[in-house]
Amino acid sequence: MKHRKRIIAGNWKMNKTASESQTLAGEIKRELAECSDVEVVLCPPFTSLAIVADVVGGTSIKFGAQNMHWEASGAYTGEISAYMLRSLYCHFVILGHSERRSYFGETDEIVNKKAKAALAATLTPIVCVGETIEERQAEKHMQVVRTQVQGSLAGIAPADLKKLVIAYEPVWAIGTGLTASPEQAQEMHAFIRSVLKEMSNEDVAQSVRIQYGGSMKPSNAAELLAKPDIDGGLIGGASLEAKSFVELVRIAQQK
Ligand code: PEP
Repeated sequence: MKHRKRIIAGNWKMNKTASESQTLAGEIKRELAECSDVEVVLCPPFTSLAIVADVVGGTSIKFGAQNMHWEASGAYTGEISAYMLRSLYCHFVILGHSERRSYFGETDEIVNKKAKAALAATLTPIVCVGETIEERQAEKHMQVVRTQVQGSLAGIAPADLKKLVIAYEPVWAIGTGLTASPEQAQEMHAFIRSVLKEMSNEDVAQSVRIQYGGSMKPSNAAELLAKPDIDGGLIGGASLEAKSFVELVRIAQQK
């Protein structure tokens, strides 16, 4: 089996001012500056990227944005481009989060344009997919996620596909305290790998890291991360405090 480095990313969403971000990133840095066996990524709001860059610069902690526009520059009031993120030494960008899809109308086509633009700017996209509770209850969850993966990643060359990260985030588990069972998550992660194989090849399918997201916390992380196709976590609520985030990284460090 391929070795995939685990990745724990904190999605701070619309939380933390610049000075609060400085404090949180500083607390995380004190514990994890030397962490090299797990990739640690902080995704603060745009307004905190520069200060977080300053705090974690020179350590192994990476940081990312929560969204971007697909154009490089131009008359797009309120938007931020991949090149602007790269110029701050950003390495990652979360794309197609379910909150972007449901509140801001992001479609797979938009996510696809953004993913291509991110890769062209050497940013690593974390592409989010996941079904709603109604879709799962109607047993359409596999088809829904297949469509999201195929649409969001359409036309991306295998060499680029290998670089990106996918986050499987069942919408019903985000911020709700409900978590997919390790079996439900493993089933979907393995399925996503099979879709990647159909789209490209086995090497790509085995190389892409697939994170689980949805109320992941220290009390449930170990059993999720023990599953063979779960390569890390995209963490919302539990990333807003250093203690729980650091604990999650420590759990991911255990083999
Ligand atoms: C998220 O929004 O990406 C997320 C997983 O949130 P939470 O951990 O709070 O469910």
